[in-house]
Amino acid sequence: MFQYYQDRIASIDAERGVSPFLIDTHSRQHNYLRISLTERCNLRCFYCMPSEGIELSPPDHLLSDDEIIRLATLFVRNGVTKIRLTGGEPTVRKGIVEIVGRLNALRQYGLQSIGMTTNGIALHRKLPALVENGLTHLNISLDTLDPFKFEIMTRRMGHNAVLRSLHTALQSPELQSVKLNVVVMRGLNDHEVPDFVEMTRESRVSVRFIEFMPFTGNKWDKAKMVPTTELLARIQMRYPELRKGSDELNDTARSYIIPGHLGSFGFISSMSDHFCGSCNRLRLTADGQIKVCLFDAKEISLRDQMRSGVSDDSLLSTIGRAVRGKKEKHAGMEDIDVVTNRPMILIGGLHRPGPARSLQVSPRFRSLFVQPAVSAHPTAVRCFSTSSVGDTASPPLRLTHIDDSGRASMVDVGQKEPTRRTATASGRIVIPRIAYELVTGGRVEDDARESPTNADAASFRKAQEKARSKGDVLTVAQLAAIMGCKRTAELIPLCHPLQLSHIAVTLHPDSRTASDAPKEAEADFVEGTRSDVGLGQSSARLTYSIMCRATVSCEGKTGVEMEALTAVSVGLLTVWDMLKAVAGKEMIIQDILVEQKAGGRSGSFMRSFP
Ligand code: SAM
Repeated sequence: MFQYYQDRIASIDAERGVSPFLIDTHSRQHNYLRISLTERCNLRCFYCMPSEGIELSPPDHLLSDDEIIRLATLFVRNGVTKIRLTGGEPTVRKGIVEIVGRLNALRQYGLQSIGMTTNGIALHRKLPALVENGLTHLNISLDTLDPFKFEIMTRRMGHNAVLRSLHTALQSPELQSVKLNVVVMRGLNDHEVPDFVEMTRESRVSVRFIEFMPFTGNKWDKAKMVPTTELLARIQMRYPELRKGSDELNDTARSYIIPGHLGSFGFISSMSDHFCGSCNRLRLTADGQIKVCLFDAKEISLRDQMRSGVSDDSLLSTIGRAVRGKKEKHAGMEDIDVVTNRPMILIGGLHRPGPARSLQVSPRFRSLFVQPAVSAHPTAVRCFSTSSVGDTASPPLRLTHIDDSGRASMVDVGQKEPTRRTATASGRIVIPRIAYELVTGGRVEDDARESPTNADAASFRKAQEKARSKGDVLTVAQLAAIMGCKRTAELIPLCHPLQLSHIAVTLHPDSRTASDAPKEAEADFVEGTRSDVGLGQSSARLTYSIMCRATVSCEGKTGVEMEALTAVSVGLLTVWDMLKAVAGKEMIIQDILVEQKAGGRSGSFMRSFP
């Protein structure tokens, strides 16, 4: 009964609308408050955090729990009905569960929803308590369904943890909405948009595609931004039956549904079609500044006012002054002032995938991931400092093999304690069928095969003899991989020599149908498309390859991923050398990657394959 009256009072309060302090000179009523709980984050997304890092405010400059609750109470009593917690990464704030609980008590004054925008890395275990304490709306940010690309974009591991959080959230009936925020960038993840849309088929998730926005230090460029109109047209080609969904008042996203899908998707077009006219949002930064527009650098410190001992009335008139100063609309995309505004991580975000196994980053983006003068090869990932999840106080990101003056430098591991390290890498070499038959010692059954001409047959027999004279391909390659592994430190300039305790290398032939094979490059090796080694057409669309996998262990101070990768590379190169007489330049070495690693400060990693 008591709850009934409480709810009733809350809804009467809400109907009262917002107080004049929260109405701007363009008659916009601000009933939505976003509170940044921390400047710290356990990811390093390049588009959010400048590559040189950010300077964190001293702890005592940040709002305390009591100050947050005092301000939230003031806002709610003046008409705010929705609060969203953000950051930095809100889940790394100590006492987050209690803060949500204390905000929940503001329902008696008209608060209707408590939302959170999170990267999901540290959410999984906290989620039940958050929901129990009153969390109603959850937005998880995830820009790629490819774990490898995730690492590149966020400069941290943890793709699985995010997926786990998403899964848990979708299983929580108390959550009124679960949304997935995807910042779309041309050449980087825009080709994954259909995969994200496909997620809505079986799950009640609402995916929101966000236009890439400019902030201090995030290397924004118009060409990387994919306008909503273009994305929608692309999705419409694949799903002509899509329909416009219903949008909530003040919702920044324009939503769409595909009949039969459980979830929905939408667009936040902050750049190409801003939503300033219906903007009802105010922001509170972690250091207590009120910010009336994401793109306006102007701020007023409520923290300083509170700490000087002012009354709530006086605080409210300061808030009113800030609100009245809100411009009608933010500047156009070319004119947004990214120089004086904060980087996104210090503001706190918006209102706002069959996944590819290989990294597809357009050349335009490569400079985002690595420091100048360093190769843009994906393996550069290893060079980033990989402090463990939750190590939010880590220094700005840099390549660990580059010193302060930009020169190559070996990392000093003298102070580290040795721990048990293991890593598994794998890769494969795609080969023509004839080479495959040579390796396996058998003939691939294929009735449709044509007879080679006499000349072809003679030259092929010669090549075959030459290849055979080198010995058993797989055994030689296996030994080469082990020997190569032991020499990693001699090959890779800044790798430490390690006392390896175990190296296990396996090589096995693999044939699969073309539809199982993910790479377009393999098309050349699909049976039936080649006849230049004496083979004819075939109806069996198979590709042939040799898979190599290496697991390396040691008790050491640095990881053994490079050793495992070297083993696989040398093993596959040896297969190439053994088979080149019959397969010539036609082979392709591909998919060399780290499958798992364990040990060390950065913890374990297990790649999830689609
Ligand atoms: N750490 C939390 C997270 O990742 O969701 C909350 C803070 S983050 C700043 C809030 C949202 O802003 C995320 O969804 C993120 O993708 C988005 N964001 C950050 N930088 C952006 C940019 N340059 N353009 C568009 N969205 C951006």
